[in-house]
Amino acid sequence: MVTSRIGVLGRGRLPVGEPILRGDDLGVLRGDGLFETMHLRDGRPWLRQEHLTRLRAGAAAVELTLPADDALVELLDQVAAGWPAEVEGALRLVCTRGPESGGPPTVYATLSEVPPTARQARHDGVRVATLSLGVPAEARPELDWLPAGIKSTSYGASSAARRWAARAGVDDVLWISSDGYALEGPTANLVWLAGETLCTVPARRTGILPGTTVAWLLARCADVGCGAAERMVTPADLRGSDGVWLTSSVRGLVAVHTLDAEPLPLSPLTRPLQELLGFPLP
Ligand code: PLP
Repeated sequence: MVTSRIGVLGRGRLPVGEPILRGDDLGVLRGDGLFETMHLRDGRPWLRQEHLTRLRAGAAAVELTLPADDALVELLDQVAAGWPAEVEGALRLVCTRGPESGGPPTVYATLSEVPPTARQARHDGVRVATLSLGVPAEARPELDWLPAGIKSTSYGASSAARRWAARAGVDDVLWISSDGYALEGPTANLVWLAGETLCTVPARRTGILPGTTVAWLLARCADVGCGAAERMVTPADLRGSDGVWLTSSVRGLVAVHTLDAEPLPLSPLTRPLQELLGFPLP
C-alpha cells in the first residue's frame, strides 16, 4: 500500500496525522460543505475540470465562496506530486464553510490508494438491493429552497444506506422513489442497456447527483455501438433490460449481477465500456 496523503490550501502537503480542522468547523458540526472525489490515474486526476465545474455549481447552490480554480488546482497538484503513476488513487477535494464564528472556507485534499474491493468489483460485479427513499421521484427539484444534485459532505443518508446494505448482505443499494422509480445508489449512478441504447436517470428532473463518470460515458458510448438516453426506469424495467451497471469516479463501471436476490442479464458490453472509461482492470 502507498501511504495516504493530505494537503491544505495555503499550507501545502502536511503529515497525514497533522490537525487541520478547528473543532468549530461547520463541516464537522453540520456537514456544511462540499466535496469531490477524482480518480487519479497515471498520477493525474481524471475529469478534473468536470469535477471542479460540479463543485462550483454546488457552491453557488449553497452560497459557499470557493477559492479560484487556479488555487484548487495548485492544491491538487501539490498533493498528487510524485504519486507512483502505476498506483490508482482516490483524490478528494473538500471545501467546508469554515469556522462557526466566521472566516474563510476550509479547503483541503486527501489522496489514498483505490481500495482492492473497488478494483475487484470491476471484475466480479456487485449484488444490489433496492431501498426506499420515501419521496416521489420528482419531488426534490420542485422545492426551490432545497439545493438538489450537490455533492454535500452531509452524507448521513448515504452512510445509513451502506450500513443497511452490509446488514442485508449486499454490496450496494439502489434508491427507489415512493412512486416506484429507480434513482441512484448512495455513491453511484445507475446505467442500463435497453436494446442498443445506454440509459441513465435524468438528474435535473429527479435531483440526483449529475455523475461525471456517467456523463463522460454517455457522451462517448457511440464508440461501442450504443446510443444514449436519459429515461425514468423501474426495477421491473431493469430486470427486463439488457444489462445494468453502477458508475462512479473511484470504482468506474461495475455490473449489477443481482438485484433483490434475482440474477440480472449480464451484458457482454461490460468489458468494452470499462475499456472505454480507461479504468485498470484486475
Ligand atoms: N450519485 C451519488 C449520490 C454519489 O455520491 C456519486 C459519487 O460519489 C455518484 C452518483 C457518482 O458520481 P461521479 O461519477 O461523479 O463520481
